[in-house]
Amino acid sequence: MKLLENKTAIVTGASRGIGEAIALKFAEHGANVAFTYRSSDELAKAMEERLNSMGVKAKAYKSDAGDFAAAEALANDVLKEFGTIDICVNNAGISKDNLLLRVTPEQWDEVMNANLKSVYNLTKHVIRPMMKAKSGSIINMSSVVGVAGNAGQSSYAASKAGIIGFTKSIAQELGSRNIRCNAIAPGFIETDMTDYLKDGGAEQWFSQIPMQRFGKPEEVADVALFLASDMSGYVTGQVINTCGGMNT
Ligand code: NAP
Repeated sequence: MKLLENKTAIVTGASRGIGEAIALKFAEHGANVAFTYRSSDELAKAMEERLNSMGVKAKAYKSDAGDFAAAEALANDVLKEFGTIDICVNNAGISKDNLLLRVTPEQWDEVMNANLKSVYNLTKHVIRPMMKAKSGSIINMSSVVGVAGNAGQSSYAASKAGIIGFTKSIAQELGSRNIRCNAIAPGFIETDMTDYLKDGGAEQWFSQIPMQRFGKPEEVADVALFLASDMSGYVTGQVINTCGGMNT
């Protein structure tokens, strides 16, 4: 059974990693997919072709998630091209990990813009068409460290904790309009972002993970599919830990 037929989704940061898996999963379930990236032109082109070959409409947009005007232009372009925006996945994100003593103001701002301001930027511009349609699902990519904190990740953790506060607020603001807003808090997921953790062996991290392994992007995409679809019709304002039991 396809869960997202006749829906249009925007997924930010889908040239690689978790966003890529979400875009593919949504297309598999019949959604038309507009997706963004920041600099990986070739990966994005290949991804656009792959999605279109799955029988849905798909388009890549080079759009910096941290830029307010770019988010407005993106939402307008997608509406013009696709007609609706039913699902918005704010997935794009970066990390610049360092001990607080060494975090520069520039690094702090870079992380906040890409991870947190980005969520404000696009959500603000997709809720108008969703309100008109009296329906919508917004999914924000937080992290286990946004829930629990982590030494050496103060900027990243703060941005991801901010996403949780934003998510709960928007759920309360727009629940009466049938617009749902939820967050996913992944643990260690196998992507470029966590590649460096494997130096010296991934096993060293397993003592923190009850399931004793890293997660796969597809396992986060399954949760996003649930939150995007009518299967979660009465779920809003929630943070779904997807972390092999790290946060219990
Ligand atoms: P990734 O493999 O590094 O991929 C990041 C994606 O985001 C790429 O498509 C990248 O585009 C895009 N991107 C980055 N900054 C952007 C910007 N300013 N504007 C537009 N696109 C931008 O990362 P990932 O591991 O899949 O992570 C995806 C999300 O999950 C992030 O929000 C991350 O914080 C969160 N998360 C990841 C993990 C994990 O273990 N991997 C755990 C918890 C949460 P380009 O290819 O063009 O650079």
